[in-house]
Amino acid sequence: MVSEKWLPKSEPAAPVCIGNGDRGLKVSDFIDRPNNAWKSEEVLNYFCEEDANVILQIPLPISPVKDKRVWHFTTNGEYSVKSGYELALMMKRNGLLGVGGSGCPLCGDPEESVIHLVAKCPFARAVWFSSPLQIDSQVLECSSFIRWWSELMQRGQGFQDAVHWRANIAYLVWGIWKSRNQAMFDHCRADPVWVMQQAVRSAAEFLEAYKEEESEMEILCADRPSKQVQWQAPTSGSCGGLRARSAIVMESLALRAGVLLAMERGFRRVIFEGDAKGLIDALSGRGTSREDIQLLVWDILQLCNSLFTDFSFVFVGRKCNSVAHELASKGYSSGICSNWIAIPPLWLWDLICREKGCCT
Ligand SMILES: [Zn+2]
Repeated sequence: MVSEKWLPKSEPAAPVCIGNGDRGLKVSDFIDRPNNAWKSEEVLNYFCEEDANVILQIPLPISPVKDKRVWHFTTNGEYSVKSGYELALMMKRNGLLGVGGSGCPLCGDPEESVIHLVAKCPFARAVWFSSPLQIDSQVLECSSFIRWWSELMQRGQGFQDAVHWRANIAYLVWGIWKSRNQAMFDHCRADPVWVMQQAVRSAAEFLEAYKEEESEMEILCADRPSKQVQWQAPTSGSCGGLRARSAIVMESLALRAGVLLAMERGFRRVIFEGDAKGLIDALSGRGTSREDIQLLVWDILQLCNSLFTDFSFVFVGRKCNSVAHELASKGYSSGICSNWIAIPPLWLWDLICREKGCCT
């Protein structure tokens, strides 16, 4: 159909018709088959001048070819994940990603944004308020999703069981997101109370499994020599106590602290990323490690073997690791030790987003 996006402009576009165009026309109606040419007069009369010129420049094949869909964003017309990803990044930069253009599918509000979906939408508000957490999602800071989320998490810190709080929040957000997709693609609107009940049930199942894992972990830890696994959370300011004679030793010490933190959080499958190539290579069994880190390498491997079911060490280029560097310099200058398990601090958020765009 001529009203579809078939013009090869900078991005696929539907041609603009002038006058009262007949929307039932097909592209083939504008092709003079016997002469294998565009019906230029019809094209110029039917479409705006700019689009008519684009159409007239499209070469027509001599022998008949079946219509097929092509991917506009690669030179060979074949879709590739890379090109899709690049397009998504470009759309995100232009604020187009996730915007269907027809407003919120749950309430019909013209605003279709993440913050609307999770906080402002009457559907979401009903989900939050009917939940055992009884949150009025709109009284939280709603200027951006991350601010809203931060405030939500901060409230959870006063809650007796923070894991319980976070699990419920995560499943409620997921429930809202699934309802939005259902409304958008299946055209059916779920009942907010039903969505809430499903989310709360899933959170309870998760918490049950989590508790089992935790007690399993305690048993595992109890079986091991206490020297290896006993770790005291650093008291405020004590991170400044990590001192080393060289950068790579410091990196090794930091990694070992990371291993212990992962253990403390109860993680079983872990990937450690770092930009100290010598250290990552040594841990991955590539080449011989420097003498001054040999013991630390051995130590880290011992811990990992005894604590995790699956673990690996991955080298990440320095320029893709600016978050770590920012954290290191903050930690160094302030000497204050903080852990952010659920959400990062706001001052780090932009950097994380930028880095996410940099690494695939
Ligand atoms: Zn809505």
